[in-house]
Amino acid sequence: MNGNLKEDYVDGQQLSGWDEASDAKQTELFSHALLRDSFLSWASQLKTDSVFKDGILFVCDASGELIDSTAMSSNHGAQVETVSPAFLQGAAWSEANLGRNAVATAMKSRLPSRGGAEGLDAASLKGFVTYAVPCRAFGQVSCYLGLLQPSGKETGSELALMKASAPAFGLQLELLTEKKKSEHLNEMHEYNQAELTKRDLLIETSKKLHSKIDADSVLAEIFQSFEKIYPSVEIDLFLSQDSHSSNLPVKPLIFQHNDNEDLLTRAYMEGRLILETSSDGTAPLAVPLSGKQGVYGILQMKMNQYPLDQSDINLISALAETAGNAFENARLYEHSNTLINELRIINEITKRLNQSLKLQDIFNFASRKLISTFGADYACIMRVDRENQRMVVQASNVLGVLNESTALDEGFSGLAYSTKDPIIVSDYHEQSNIKSRLMEITSSRSLIASPIIVNNEVVGVILVLHRKANYFSYENYKLLQVLSGHIGLAISNASLHAEVKRMVITDHLTGLYARHYLDEQVNFMQKKDYCGALIVADIDNFKKINDTFGHQIGDQILIQVSNIIKSSIRDTDIAARWGGEELAIYLPQATLEHTLQVAERIRKRIFDDTKPQVTVSCGIADWSWEDERISVESLFYKADMALYEAKHQGKNRIRVAKAN
Ligand code: GH3
Ligand code: MG
Ligand code: MG
Repeated sequence: MNGNLKEDYVDGQQLSGWDEASDAKQTELFSHALLRDSFLSWASQLKTDSVFKDGILFVCDASGELIDSTAMSSNHGAQVETVSPAFLQGAAWSEANLGRNAVATAMKSRLPSRGGAEGLDAASLKGFVTYAVPCRAFGQVSCYLGLLQPSGKETGSELALMKASAPAFGLQLELLTEKKKSEHLNEMHEYNQAELTKRDLLIETSKKLHSKIDADSVLAEIFQSFEKIYPSVEIDLFLSQDSHSSNLPVKPLIFQHNDNEDLLTRAYMEGRLILETSSDGTAPLAVPLSGKQGVYGILQMKMNQYPLDQSDINLISALAETAGNAFENARLYEHSNTLINELRIINEITKRLNQSLKLQDIFNFASRKLISTFGADYACIMRVDRENQRMVVQASNVLGVLNESTALDEGFSGLAYSTKDPIIVSDYHEQSNIKSRLMEITSSRSLIASPIIVNNEVVGVILVLHRKANYFSYENYKLLQVLSGHIGLAISNASLHAEVKRMVITDHLTGLYARHYLDEQVNFMQKKDYCGALIVADIDNFKKINDTFGHQIGDQILIQVSNIIKSSIRDTDIAARWGGEELAIYLPQATLEHTLQVAERIRKRIFDDTKPQVTVSCGIADWSWEDERISVESLFYKADMALYEAKHQGKNRIRVAKAN
């Protein structure tokens, strides 16, 4: 036995399995407070007419240290006063301290002891007789009960009575100890229960959070979970980038330098929970919602006098971490969906664009597709007309603007043209820099626009409009940029194709059509038309021109003659270089009379306007659906025969082939 009450108690009760954290509680169980409580409770139960009625009862711990004392008043029934007379102050009733005394003797002998006043050094104790009895609880000596009886008031039965009432004290001590223990166990139980509930909530919440795949649902779940766990707490969520049109009270995270925002800034910068205690009793708390790629926002809680302990802090941190991860996952999922969707759109559009080599088809398709892709109200595709320094509307669903043109520095198309940069306008009403007729006639407030760039040159501008403000997202803006690149490619492909086609069917010297094109067209028209006529013109004595003026001048003459022919015919007529210095003009559905007029006009103008002067001879042939044989060859043959006749009859004249 080592006399250490705490250890005796612990050994005696075999409180194995208590964890480190409950050590503090154990110490309390054996504290002086417990001994004091037991003592006062025990003393109050003593009858006042007992033998102790004039004495002072006291209690010392197992090492003899005084814990409390009480004077038993003879007149006041069960009323017990705690007294602390000067002489009772001091450390211990050890022999070293007070000289030989009853407590010291009892400590040594473990038996009830009596010490005479004469044995004490403390002057103030003179006149008292001291009694002490060891007191057992749980089978161990736990303390000593003492009595100071004024000398002369002794009855002789004090020690026996002390001894008799000590077990009652022991019992009281055991009772109180058990009560404390059970209270403590209850507390522990409640604490563990609360911890379990929190852990369950955490598990449940994280399950729920991770089952959500869109960021809005994750945010809603965050709110719900926190409101469930901390019902009376005001919760605000600040997001660093908000592209969500949710109904949730999400606020933008803007860093400012006032006190409240500072808490957010700190939580954001330090990436951890920050708890502040402010003078008004509120305890604002900010915890970051972060994932592996960064901090997405801050959750702020105004814990109004809410008793927060470490386990709450842990729970809130864990919840925020789970929420941050779930939010990140949802965002990534949404982002990848957006990307997949964009790729699908790009793929579909480029495939369709590449199928078409007709520019107008491309413009029309792109315009329709832009409207459906962005859910826009209007789209407008403009093309740069370099010759006239204007921008011309090629395709649009805005009524009445088709083929309209604007100056190259006008409106948003002008801005995109000059800067070569895409544009996003959140609200047309909120900006005053640029006037746009298109925005005004369509009552649009949102706009995304992108230049169409081919070989580093702006060839057009795409404008996509919506009547609502703040309609287009940043992703829309980026996607339009990508799409305009593909539309540009399709335009350049179609333009190249058209150019190659033009080159193939054009005679490069004269700019007239090539012979094979004329052949094809006549063949085609002979199948669908009722009639048509052909003029074959041959420059007279051209060999001599070449010989006289040289080949280069000869070429010039060819060009002059070709230009005269071009300007003498209708757009629907087809003039071609038939070969060498022979030219041919097909006039679809023309009468012979009209053809003769045209041929004569050409002949005369060549005679009048060429320099050096040349003349032409012409042969004319026509066909109608009534002819027996209709073919390109026979038509040309007949015209050639007529030409031969014209040459034969003196040149610079026109002859018509005889009817069949
Ligand atoms: P005719 O009045 O009978 O038609 O006499 P002609 O000299 O015009 O006829 P011919 O068929 O004898 O000669 C045609 C000449 O046209 C021969 C050739 O040098 C010339 N010629 C053909 N193609 C070109 C060309 O592209 N450029 C030049 N400078 N001369 C050409
Ligand atoms: Mg000839
Ligand atoms: Mg000739």
